[in-house]
Amino acid sequence: MMENIIITVKELVKKYGELEAVKGISFEVREGEIFGLLGPNGAGKSTTLEIMETLRPKTSGKVFIAGYDLDTQPREIKKIIGVQLQSSGFYPGLNLLQLIELFSGLYNEPVHARELLRMVNLEDKARAKVKELSGGQKQRFSIATTLINKPKIIFLDEPTTGLDPQARRSLWELIKEIRQKGTTVIITTHYMDEAEYLCDRVAIMDEGKIIALDTPDKLIDDLLAQGFERPRVVKKANLEDVFIHLTGHALREE
Ligand code: ADP
Ligand code: MG
Repeated sequence: MMENIIITVKELVKKYGELEAVKGISFEVREGEIFGLLGPNGAGKSTTLEIMETLRPKTSGKVFIAGYDLDTQPREIKKIIGVQLQSSGFYPGLNLLQLIELFSGLYNEPVHARELLRMVNLEDKARAKVKELSGGQKQRFSIATTLINKPKIIFLDEPTTGLDPQARRSLWELIKEIRQKGTTVIITTHYMDEAEYLCDRVAIMDEGKIIALDTPDKLIDDLLAQGFERPRVVKKANLEDVFIHLTGHALREE
């Protein structure tokens, strides 16, 4: 059972000048789960994530990560979390293998670089530079770098935004694999299908507040219990039907 609480956030507030971007939110994350922060642009997801990652100061409230108090033990927190770097932060002259070895040295954490690349399915790109990777490969590499210090928790901010469907699927499988190995994953997304597929529990944020928090299944059941029915699709055909009608065969037949 995943009952141990690994993150506690209490009455968290973040103000940017006049703007209150996070308005006193509270939630807990359980050890070993994939926890989603969902919501539209501007909801306060990245702000919340970056505060937990020790990258952004909060205005008020309390945050505990693996028992460490963010106010007094940020260094301890940094040691046990994995933070995704922007690919712009990677030294352009180095290949993937060299980058992992560099970070491994910085973290003072010995790591089997090839093994890590194999895990994110980039072993054949070991000698490639980051700029030579596709969008999905860049994201997989960036996730690999979060794992170098063997973190208890990793934070992913919209890891699949801008990726094509195949690259998204491959990233989803990687994230599940990481959780399988016991790492807690906190992910932000504005894709509901992604949250439904990946997340054990989700907090839905809007305008700086958490407006719902539960498993995707429970949230859907609650909605149905209120008598919700999805509006019927008005058109009785879609573009694929047009294609099949015009060409006489389905796309995947040949
Ligand atoms: P999300 O990740 O859900 O899109 P953000 O946390 O990035 O939301 O932003 C929440 C709100 O805070 C937005 O209105 C955004 O414009 C504002 N905001 C974010 N970062 C800053 C900043 N550094 N300075 C001022 N306002 C900011
Ligand atoms: Mg964001």
